[in-house]
Amino acid sequence: MDSEESPQYQSATDPDTPPVPCKDCEAALRSPERSRYSFLLLDHLTTPIIGCEEHVAQFASTCGYTTNGAAKLIEHRPAGGIRCPSCQLAGHTPRQPVIPVADGAVAVHACPEHQSELLARFQTGLETQHRLTTALDTAERLDVP
Ligand SMILES: [Zn+2]
Ligand SMILES: [Zn+2]
Repeated sequence: MDSEESPQYQSATDPDTPPVPCKDCEAALRSPERSRYSFLLLDHLTTPIIGCEEHVAQFASTCGYTTNGAAKLIEHRPAGGIRCPSCQLAGHTPRQPVIPVADGAVAVHACPEHQSELLARFQTGLETQHRLTTALDTAERLDVP
């Protein structure tokens, strides 16, 4: 409803933001009011994120490396809602930073504090993922002389 007054919210018109190679992500980011939110449940965080299904799932699973629990992705607003009041407000902010995920990008609708926490976790997750992959490669090479 209130998002109609923000036609600039799309990466293509923003010189600071490179275009998103993934068309589905681009489409989802371009019309946040029409696209379905996914809700990422990660430890104490409940965060609405927008992107295509594939890259949202990828973002969630990467963040999942940073928790002993599980990063869960749900398609509807959780029963408890979003606990952080600032995050709730962030959902109404038209411009949200976009986090590149592989060849796509997702927008995280959270307050700055939780946004940077999620971003830090994503980056840590990427490193962990990379380490695990490298370790597996090495193990395989040791197995096969
Ligand atoms: Zn995508
Ligand atoms: Zn928050």
